[in-house]
Amino acid sequence: MTSGGRPLREVGEEALIEQIARLVATTCPRVRIGIGDDAAVWRPHAGHELVVTTDTLIERIHFRLEWTDWATLGHKALAVNLSDIAAMGALPRLAVVDLALRGTERDRDVADFYRGAQALARRFGVAIVGGDTTRSPLGVAISVTVIGESPRDGRPLLRRDAGRPGDVIGVTGPLGLAAAGLRVLERGLKTLDGNPVMQERYHRPEPRVREALLLRRCGVRAAMDISDGLLGDLEKLCRASGVSAIVDTLRVPVPNAVKWGFPDWEELALRGGDDYELLFTAPPHVFARVQRAFARAGMLPPRAIGQLIEAGTAGPVVQLRDAAGRCRPVEARGYDHFRAG
Ligand SMILES: [Mg+2]
Repeated sequence: MTSGGRPLREVGEEALIEQIARLVATTCPRVRIGIGDDAAVWRPHAGHELVVTTDTLIERIHFRLEWTDWATLGHKALAVNLSDIAAMGALPRLAVVDLALRGTERDRDVADFYRGAQALARRFGVAIVGGDTTRSPLGVAISVTVIGESPRDGRPLLRRDAGRPGDVIGVTGPLGLAAAGLRVLERGLKTLDGNPVMQERYHRPEPRVREALLLRRCGVRAAMDISDGLLGDLEKLCRASGVSAIVDTLRVPVPNAVKWGFPDWEELALRGGDDYELLFTAPPHVFARVQRAFARAGMLPPRAIGQLIEAGTAGPVVQLRDAAGRCRPVEARGYDHFRAG
């Protein structure tokens, strides 16, 4: 039964989310950040903020059981949520897991799933405290919700709308690995030239919680995680902040394994999703402080890949600048869950 309205394929994910945001708009002053960031933020009392996020993985859309094992799936389902908590500069604390299963699985599959999730949870001090199991004859669906909290240091959480003209754009690590890993899997290969690093990144992303906390301590205000591809995600940050961006293509860090394995490596690095590195922006003096702090902590310093500028009359746009200094605007659309199908 249909009752008018437009097909979601035409509406697109982003416009749909805007519609939903209008329907559930709240004026509660304790809701500090609602729909539209990596996670929502609620302030139960002054000086303390709770952060909540949720993410769903669907069989044959986000994973294939012939490409992965259950422990890896447990890792990934939790990791993508921890990444959204990291994107806020918050500490993940609790997780609940909803599993919709065909019913043909083995109890050992579910045990393996939880072992994979628990191993990651333990590393980040997260307690898995509940959830739901249900039957789903058409395929497996995994939904994880994570609650985190702000560190008690009085600094603001990281948000998408805090980017300012003049900010340096940084990324916490190389891009394109996960998208290259997906290509390898799609070709029916286990590895490319015996190098497992690309599929490993696709299957087992590492949430950048520690990196985010350090960014925040250095005074960074604006960040998000790169889940749908650098250019699409940067466009979201730009629109939230009301600024434009220039990305120096040559400065985007791309591992040699990706460059050597794929002629369109630039596309994989700029538009490939699933890397779960952090994208952030900060004034130059804060960015310099970040690089010193990472080096002191023995961590790989973030790379500067471009700059935020004032948005023109046409509104926020993302441009790519080549080695000769020529700029071209990009069609920055990231992965859209409804258009893609
Ligand atoms: Mg995110």
